[in-house]
Amino acid sequence: MHSPQFTAEPSSNDSAERDFAVGGVPGVLRSPASGADHTPRFDVIIAGCGPTGAMLAAELRLHDVRVLVLEKETQPKSFVRIVGLHIRSLELMAMRGLLDRMLEHGRQRPAGGFFAAIAKPAPKGLDSAHAYLLGIPQPVIERLLEEHAIALGARVRRGCAVAGFEQDDEGVTVELADGEQLRSRYLVGCDGGRSTVRKLLGVGFPGEPSRTETLMGEMEVGVPQEEIAAKVSAIRETHQPFWLRPFGEGVYSVVVPAAGVSDRAEPPTLEDFQQQLRAIAGTDFGVHSPRWLSRFGDATRLAERYRVGRVLLAGDAAHIHPPTGGQGLNLGVQDAVNLGWKLAAEVRGWAPETLLDTYQTERHPVADDVLDNTRAQMELLSTEPGPRAVRRLLTELMDFDEVNRHLIEKITAIGIRYDFGEGPDLLGRRLRDIEVKQGHLYGLLHRGRGLLLDRTERLTVGGWSDRVDQLADPTARLDVPCVLLRPDGHVAWVGDDQQDLDDHLSRWFGKPAD
Ligand SMILES: Cc1cc2nc3c(=O)[nH]c(=O)nc-3n(C[C@H](O)[C@H](O)[C@H](O)COP(=O)(O)OP(=O)(O)OC[C@H]3O[C@@H](n4cnc5c(N)ncnc54)[C@H](O)[C@@H]3O)c2cc1C
Repeated sequence: MHSPQFTAEPSSNDSAERDFAVGGVPGVLRSPASGADHTPRFDVIIAGCGPTGAMLAAELRLHDVRVLVLEKETQPKSFVRIVGLHIRSLELMAMRGLLDRMLEHGRQRPAGGFFAAIAKPAPKGLDSAHAYLLGIPQPVIERLLEEHAIALGARVRRGCAVAGFEQDDEGVTVELADGEQLRSRYLVGCDGGRSTVRKLLGVGFPGEPSRTETLMGEMEVGVPQEEIAAKVSAIRETHQPFWLRPFGEGVYSVVVPAAGVSDRAEPPTLEDFQQQLRAIAGTDFGVHSPRWLSRFGDATRLAERYRVGRVLLAGDAAHIHPPTGGQGLNLGVQDAVNLGWKLAAEVRGWAPETLLDTYQTERHPVADDVLDNTRAQMELLSTEPGPRAVRRLLTELMDFDEVNRHLIEKITAIGIRYDFGEGPDLLGRRLRDIEVKQGHLYGLLHRGRGLLLDRTERLTVGGWSDRVDQLADPTARLDVPCVLLRPDGHVAWVGDDQQDLDDHLSRWFGKPAD
């Protein structure tokens, strides 16, 4: 594990090192009017310490990038939204040595049954060593990712809302809500669906507004469980979503359609829940003593651009969609892993010219596809006769292994293939966690570097060895001679020719060291 100290890097300077060492307020700019010091004190400022921001901070720290995360809230979120980490995210956790920690706090469940909640088991032989779903509360994921980022040396400042910024040729001046200014070389908006960064950037967010809104919360109830269960199953015939589920210690998780679409950020009240429960179930089940209350809509929107100059967007700041299929957090964490090493390469000075742009060319279509599959799932969840007929038909079709496999590979993101040009099917896909002579492949990716896996024992990464590791292993369970993996685990090259390999090392990892 890296030490939390900042090591020498192209952009570091003595005063920045001192700021961190004395624990002052690092990165504060003197007012430009009073003789500006425009030297960036950070390489990257991240707005938002949700799962995307925390994961990105950790990925950047793997490359000694000086990172500051600014989080508007003073305390971590408390509402227990149980989310599922799908297969690709679990693989990423394994790739960064985080999976065991996640497993301690979650429950493994079968991977199938998530597309529009159609109850079909996953097909046999999914191409992953981690072919399950991990049910785990979102606050736990956020805490573990934040701890991981901090352990790697990221700074997190809470109670700091990004309120404005200006970018120029050298960097970005970020202004906080209290007027404090900070300077960095890049800014990434990981500040959620209502992203301030995206709005200030003027990036369009086209799509559909919410048509429905749902209230969600945890509270106690005043009637016996049997009475609730009977009523709930009757109502669910005609109202999706609706549930009251026991959550332990007398607390129930309650989900009920809202009266209308308010599109407000503020949480609903207990009275809102009581009123809606009465309207739909004819009783409010005596709900009281709420632990937390929240609302969410089904708006579906995708940012037109993920990057404008030195400012980028990731996670919900770049895409929002209904929670069907449980994909949003997964998508954001995967954005972070795609972006992290590319932005680090820019900061460290070895990025090939177009590398950072591949963040958008690779991730925008992936989000587009997720938005589409959630649109389809929402239709399939409708209680109208037409969509119910389509649902019955799709349920039948899912008995065909290929259909079921296609849908599950979509939801779990293991079917993604980035367009790296002509080549074998493996090119552009992620490689599963195969066994190698040192154990598991993903164990070799903890440091976020590239990896040459060479069954021929003839090839070398040569001048790229400061960025790319290599493992010669004729016994590796691969049906191709060699693969070059990017730090995100996607296959950047397949072959056995040194010159061809060198060309691809240049393409992804820049010029070799002298
Ligand atoms: C009911 C429900 C169930 C869900 N279930 C799943 C699931 O099973 N699986 C799944 O993958 N996803 C699920 N999601 C989606 C998931 O919760 C989101 O996609 C995920 O939280 C996005 O992470 P993020 O870090 O991009 O954004 P957020 O989690 O929204 O984090 C953004 C952070 O930025 C901070 N912030 C905002 N503005 C500023 C500012 N100006 N300056 C500084 N900080 C700021 C916020 O306080 C917040 O901490 C669900 C969502 C809902 C509503």
